[in-house]
Amino acid sequence: MTEKSKEIINKVADVIIENKKYLTELDSAIGDGDHGINMSKGFNKVKEKLEAKDYESNKELIKTVAMTLISTVGGASGPLYGTAFLNISKIIPDADFDLDSLIEIGESAVAGIQKRGKAEQGEKTMLDTIIPAVNSLKESKENGDNIEEALKQCKAKAEEGMKATIDMQATKGRASYLGKRSIGHQDPGATSSYLIIKTVVDELY
Ligand code: ADP
Ligand code: MG
Ligand code: MG
Repeated sequence: MTEKSKEIINKVADVIIENKKYLTELDSAIGDGDHGINMSKGFNKVKEKLEAKDYESNKELIKTVAMTLISTVGGASGPLYGTAFLNISKIIPDADFDLDSLIEIGESAVAGIQKRGKAEQGEKTMLDTIIPAVNSLKESKENGDNIEEALKQCKAKAEEGMKATIDMQATKGRASYLGKRSIGHQDPGATSSYLIIKTVVDELY
């Protein structure tokens, strides 16, 4: 499973790097125009680290991702994504991911981001993508959906959540300085979170 996880992380890194300009444009509208730069710097370093050595377990692999993002991304998003991955590294199994483990992964990411950033859903942040995605996985479990169906729904809800940030007023992070003028723009962090979730889902099924 560690080989597969490495492949998934490499693919996530490629997608973030490909979207550097897009993420930076989104951040130029309501922030300081560095989100794509910050994220692609971090994920370039992640790719280097993954290439440099073999990882014994998913825990070790994801911990490396976390520490690399914390030390290279910077801004608000670096420590937030870093803490999310650090939390995930503590619980991620080496076996194939079933719905229960995907829910646990999602919940630990949210817990990490909220512990550091103190934001709730509806404040125009990355959480507006991630929380609906995790809730969707939980609903799928209740409904008895199979994993393919659950992942498909999860991706759709993440996208919906990302787009819902357009009409929100930011009350956390740099975009909150704009007050009402933050309305009408898609949040850059919600967008990078969608790209990450979409890529993981597409790689898993
Ligand atoms: P900075 O704002 O320091 O330049 P980035 O541009 O890299 O950092 O990241 C901005 C993104 O970080 C925002 O679009 C938002 O999604 C996310 N963000 C900011 N503050 C918080 C917070 N407290 N909780 C969750 N996400 C946040
Ligand atoms: Mg920024
Ligand atoms: Mg910045």
